[in-house]
Amino acid sequence: MTDIQSSQIAQLPVIGEAAQQSYPTATLYIVATPIGNVTDISLRALQLLALADAVACEDTRNTGHLLTRFGLNKPLIAAHQHNEREVADKLIARLQQGQRIALVSDAGTPGVSDPGARIVDAVRAAGIRVLPLPGASAAITALSASGLVNDQFYFVGFLPAKARQRESALQALLTVPAILVFYEAPHRIVDSVAALLAAFGPTRQIVFARELTKLFEEIHRCPLADADAWLRADAHREKGEFVVLVEGASEAGDAADLEAERILQILLAECSVKQAAHLAAQITGRKKNALYERALAIRGDA
Ligand code: SAM
Repeated sequence: MTDIQSSQIAQLPVIGEAAQQSYPTATLYIVATPIGNVTDISLRALQLLALADAVACEDTRNTGHLLTRFGLNKPLIAAHQHNEREVADKLIARLQQGQRIALVSDAGTPGVSDPGARIVDAVRAAGIRVLPLPGASAAITALSASGLVNDQFYFVGFLPAKARQRESALQALLTVPAILVFYEAPHRIVDSVAALLAAFGPTRQIVFARELTKLFEEIHRCPLADADAWLRADAHREKGEFVVLVEGASEAGDAADLEAERILQILLAECSVKQAAHLAAQITGRKKNALYERALAIRGDA
């Protein structure tokens, strides 16, 4: 059998197959939408959106635009992080009347650092069917192209915005052996990368996955020591959407962490948290702030 030409794709029978499939009524469909490139929508998602009685969405304007791109015009129900519980009751009433409702977020997979989980919980508790239609998620897209070789990953999502809380959150991840997956807003990327360097040290690999599936997509990997310079090398880099991946703790890294921990423990028996962090920074060459956070945690003050 010879390969088909790319221009023949639109005529492929599989395109029409989505229309032949079953889309039960009285069902909530969790529909992943594109994270940038509008054509990254699945055939089944398109078909379901066309059949849906209403679309519950994070932002009615965004979803209205997206549906217009697909030639669709549907009743939209706002379902954002501040009204999930109330809207769940409205959706349940519609579903009990036999409607098909699609739940989408602004981009990617609902419920992944996005509203959706509470609605799904309530709908399932009401004994109503929930059917996922998979598609894009920024985390998985970034992992797939990172080249980091590790079967395990740990999805962190957004770090806390406040520096103190962010440092504590990072301290808790120090020994995790899986790839760490972060989402970050452009106005916080420089501060967050500084915090990652302070917590994890200069040698771990970081991957920036920026503007995935969009015109100015960039996927860049470097040691954490070089991350700030890469970000600042082009003013555009501090804009756009980011997934940040950090290599998991290696055995060598673990050994260094354990050594820093041992030194802190000894110092804390004799000195204040501040002095212990100061001396441990001089002995290990690590950042004082990160050691201070760790010292607080050891003392149980964090
Ligand atoms: N539910 C979405 C998903 O499944 O990926 C994530 C929504 S979360 C509110 C938005 C964050 O996802 C952004 O701040 C960014 O970290 C990441 N993100 C979304 N689209 C992206 C893209 N095209 N490129 C890089 N990161 C993206």
